[in-house]
Amino acid sequence: MRDGMLILGASHAGVLLAATLRENGWEEPITIVGEEPSPPYQRPPLSKGLIAGEVEPEDLALRSFGFFRDAEISLELGSAAVAVDPAGREVTLSDGRRLRYGCLALATGATARPAPFEGADLDGVAVLRTLSDALMLRERIAAAGEVVIVGAGYIGLELSAGLAALGGRHVTVVDCGRRILARAASATLATFVAERHRHAGTRLILGARIARLNGAGGRVTDVELADGSRIAADLVVLAIGVRRNDHLARVAGLACDDGVLVNRAGRTSDPRIVALGDCAVRHSRFADGALVRLECVQNAQDGARAAAAGLTGKPVGMEPTPWFWSDQLGLRLQTAGLTSGVDRTVQRGSREQGRFSLWHFAGPRLRAVETVNAPAEHLVARKLLQAGCPISPAEAADTRIDLGARFLRREMALSAP
Ligand SMILES: Cc1cc2nc3c(=O)[nH]c(=O)nc-3n(C[C@H](O)[C@H](O)[C@H](O)COP(=O)(O)OP(=O)(O)OC[C@H]3O[C@@H](n4cnc5c(N)ncnc54)[C@H](O)[C@@H]3O)c2cc1C
Repeated sequence: MRDGMLILGASHAGVLLAATLRENGWEEPITIVGEEPSPPYQRPPLSKGLIAGEVEPEDLALRSFGFFRDAEISLELGSAAVAVDPAGREVTLSDGRRLRYGCLALATGATARPAPFEGADLDGVAVLRTLSDALMLRERIAAAGEVVIVGAGYIGLELSAGLAALGGRHVTVVDCGRRILARAASATLATFVAERHRHAGTRLILGARIARLNGAGGRVTDVELADGSRIAADLVVLAIGVRRNDHLARVAGLACDDGVLVNRAGRTSDPRIVALGDCAVRHSRFADGALVRLECVQNAQDGARAAAAGLTGKPVGMEPTPWFWSDQLGLRLQTAGLTSGVDRTVQRGSREQGRFSLWHFAGPRLRAVETVNAPAEHLVARKLLQAGCPISPAEAADTRIDLGARFLRREMALSAP
């Protein structure tokens, strides 16, 4: 058999890479190795519709079995790659098999970060990264009365929103930060979202460090904070971020930083190996060239398209604007661009009406736009950021201006031949 493309990781990045390679005319064999036993599925609904019981696992398929069969993409599910040998162009699987490759893709994503405190091994303590985590959590939620979520990032808050909608239990979110969404959103947006969560009945305890999780008879009973106070719990969910899965790359000697180092086409320090999605890090023009590792579906998909283009000799194109979404408490939150390094923010629309956007500038340059229930404005923002349109804070704040019509038309006129 010819040594074709071997993809490690059967999720958003790995599956789209395989599909795009076929679309681009790749004729060599393609095999995807996935550690999880389930067919490739969409991860975002795990903390949204699946917990709420609105969707079931069979609704989450990334692609049908028929797709993989017709595209001649082999799936090796339920086995993990345990070693990569770049010199011998071979990968060893957990069951001892060895697979040779012509090109290798690392799409191994990330794993829930282990708790830095005692008690995380007690019964009744859960994480939420995989479909099996989510199904187990759903079962435990049904029997829980006192739920504590550790971590006020997007996943912890989506989960607490789902629990608030279900009703019937006390929900507390604890975070060591002074505000929610400290890593992922501006302070203004975080304040707005926190108010909504409090209004929905969730208790937010901020600026609090967890000392340990206590238990009795092997089951969790409470969360003890560093100040000695205790919060009763029969279910604790740890939503404290992720650890990128770059171990295989490090051991194989590939250049790594906060993840596997890649260029715009996903190329690693080994020309036969690409990396993409949550496990990869690269320099971004949206962060003034700094290294950025993003954890979102758009980044996994963009990485897949760029790597497929690079591997099939097609133009890779400009780095697209990073963007991210979250759904919680009836709010569609969308962020275009990166909010790091911003020094001025203007608002468009009304917070009271729950539909507004925050336009963030670094000096004179638009850097990021956060929208709340304003999907059309989010799309315009993405295009403005992509094109690097010069727009002033006063123009961004002026709701009499149709930003799409004024700026994008001008941009299109300038770029016309
Ligand atoms: C609950 C939840 C909600 C989310 N909501 C959103 C959202 O609303 N919007 C958004 O943009 N993003 C969201 N995300 C983030 C998004 O899902 C990730 O950014 C995306 O899944 C990354 O895709 P990936 O393919 O790079 O990695 P992953 O999805 O992490 O997939 C990596 C796969 O590789 C497998 N793997 C790891 N190591 C090995 C190995 N050695 N051998 C074989 N297989 C291996 C893993 O088992 C996994 O299946 C959410 C994530 C979670 C967990």
